[in-house]
Amino acid sequence: MTVAPDVLAVRRLVRWFDREGPDLPWRRTRDRWAVLVSEVMLQATPVARVIPYYESWLTRWPRAADLAASSVGDAVAAWQGLGYPRRARNLHAAATVIAQSGWPDASRYQDLPGVGAYTADALRCFADEQPVLPEDVNVRRVVARRFPAGWPGAPRGRGWHAGQAMMDLGREFCRARAPRCDDGCPLRPGCPAADAGVVHEVTPVTRRQARYEGSMRQRRGFLLKALAEDGRVRVSSDPEAADSLVAEGLADRRGSLLVPAGSA
Ligand code: SF4
Repeated sequence: MTVAPDVLAVRRLVRWFDREGPDLPWRRTRDRWAVLVSEVMLQATPVARVIPYYESWLTRWPRAADLAASSVGDAVAAWQGLGYPRRARNLHAAATVIAQSGWPDASRYQDLPGVGAYTADALRCFADEQPVLPEDVNVRRVVARRFPAGWPGAPRGRGWHAGQAMMDLGREFCRARAPRCDDGCPLRPGCPAADAGVVHEVTPVTRRQARYEGSMRQRRGFLLKALAEDGRVRVSSDPEAADSLVAEGLADRRGSLLVPAGSA
């Protein structure tokens, strides 16, 4: 059976990662909370800077429930120096929802405050080991340059490794300004952009975001947040979203009120 060249390229990439991928603390776990913390911290902050924050954060708050039991102010104070403190607030809000209602189904990670399409895919790939490729701006750039026909998928059971490898490749080799095509890039053989000499001209496809304003995802998120903060919310405020939370076991109904799942 003939194997497509792009599939072979991904196999080569995964072998490269097996040999050379750095041992980062969040790569030693599949715990969803730890993966979420790392992903939120890595948004817009370099790896080396994140490591000490990640380690001390998880030492202090090893579970979502631990952070939920602390104040938002503590979270923001611990975040100081990482930048964009809104991320600490979002993480605290997500921890509160998780502590109250448990983790949503993997298809509903975006219901958590501050979790967008990329972070939801990262949870599915790096915590749940589902065969999805989380595409941040770096990974989208690699796909656009190296796999213009689209991501060919990871070898069976290696989705986590392929995702991590693409992160590393986008950061270390396939950079926006100074790509290192001929300086050891493991995807160089057969790279269409490099072969055609158009690397700088290929720009990543902008991810099409599903409309969020007014979406069921947003409405469910509002209710989950209100439940986490107030412990109950009127079903009549959004009966359809309330029904969907009850149907998935994320909340219970008590007469005209919606309450956190499993609460007395
Ligand atoms: S050869 Fe160049 S353009 Fe192709 S994947 Fe490697 S760094 Fe990116």
